[in-house]
Amino acid sequence: MAVTGLLLPKKHKEMKMETVYKIVDAQNPDAVCIQQAAKLIQKGETVAFPTETVYGLGANALDAQACEKIFAAKGRPGDNPLIVHVTGIEQAKKIAHVDELAEALMQAFWPGPLSLVLPKKECVPMAVTAHLNTVAIRCPNHAVALALIRESGLPIAAPSANLSGKPSPTWGSHVFADLRGKTAMILDAGPVEIGLESTVLLVKPGNCVLLRPGGIEKDQLETICGPVFLPQAKDKEKPAAPGMKYKHYAPEGEVKLGCNQEEIEHWLQEGRKKGAKKIILLLTEEMKVAFPSLPEEVIVFGTEKDLRTVAHNLFAALRQCDMEQADYIIAQSFAAHGIGQAIMNRLQKAAGKK
Ligand code: AMP
Ligand code: MG
Repeated sequence: MAVTGLLLPKKHKEMKMETVYKIVDAQNPDAVCIQQAAKLIQKGETVAFPTETVYGLGANALDAQACEKIFAAKGRPGDNPLIVHVTGIEQAKKIAHVDELAEALMQAFWPGPLSLVLPKKECVPMAVTAHLNTVAIRCPNHAVALALIRESGLPIAAPSANLSGKPSPTWGSHVFADLRGKTAMILDAGPVEIGLESTVLLVKPGNCVLLRPGGIEKDQLETICGPVFLPQAKDKEKPAAPGMKYKHYAPEGEVKLGCNQEEIEHWLQEGRKKGAKKIILLLTEEMKVAFPSLPEEVIVFGTEKDLRTVAHNLFAALRQCDMEQADYIIAQSFAAHGIGQAIMNRLQKAAGKK
């Protein structure tokens, strides 16, 4: 079965507020729609909107009360800081101290899937940064997101627009399923381009730390900032990226990872042995060929020729497993380099490893 974003869960949570739902063109969004969304942001409401990574749930980043609404809608723990979205370097400088290295990274990768953690300025409320003196900032490469930030005239704090603990939304329908009745507006521009959240980099000259792998790969960063370090094990107790300590991206079913035919076969036998009611396998086109005529369902989530296809489809595939009430999921795993590093980070979290 192919991956789609169009299925909606059978039961919606009860509506608590009216949510305006608008379909917009991803390249050329309707100006009236953007104005309506920008007014809501200015009034201190939340608006869900597409970016090139995943959909975000946005609020005025300079308004602590507005940002509290993001935490409430998502059920997000208050100690998990938000990423602030800006239109470019000039706006970034209004909310953070941007040194030479940070500016070089912005020049190289913005607009794009790179969030930079920098010393914050006074105007950013502590609710946004979870009481850290740093703020994560990025400039999204999406016409709808950029139009909304520009029209509102404000930096917009926006974590992924899912309920906390659920896979991030890569289709507008995912946002609708999670947040209808919990946000003032949803802008739906169809599927996003990348499908995994941004890379998060702590910027310290000579000592940059990759807090979260994402759409911009480690090797790409190193061309600008020299060696990039991974968080140390000791950081796990007091993590530099507080969000790292939470179990993320988890579907309801148990998730097992297999890197080759033998491992996948092993987990399949285990699942059958323990009497799993609904087993789903997430495989590439190439791996599916090794499992002809299985009684279990297979979701093809990309091709080994280009792992960006897997990044693009992964979260939608995990959500589909939930909608089909899979209690046992076997996902193909990959070497953790290039975009494979970000894919494996999300798959391991889905499998319950922190
Ligand atoms: P999300 O917006 O849900 O994709 O999550 C944003 C993630 O960015 C958080 O979970 C943190 O790990 C990271 N982050 C945001 N702000 C900071 C900060 N000031 N310092 C370190 N990490 C941050
Ligand atoms: Mg998130």
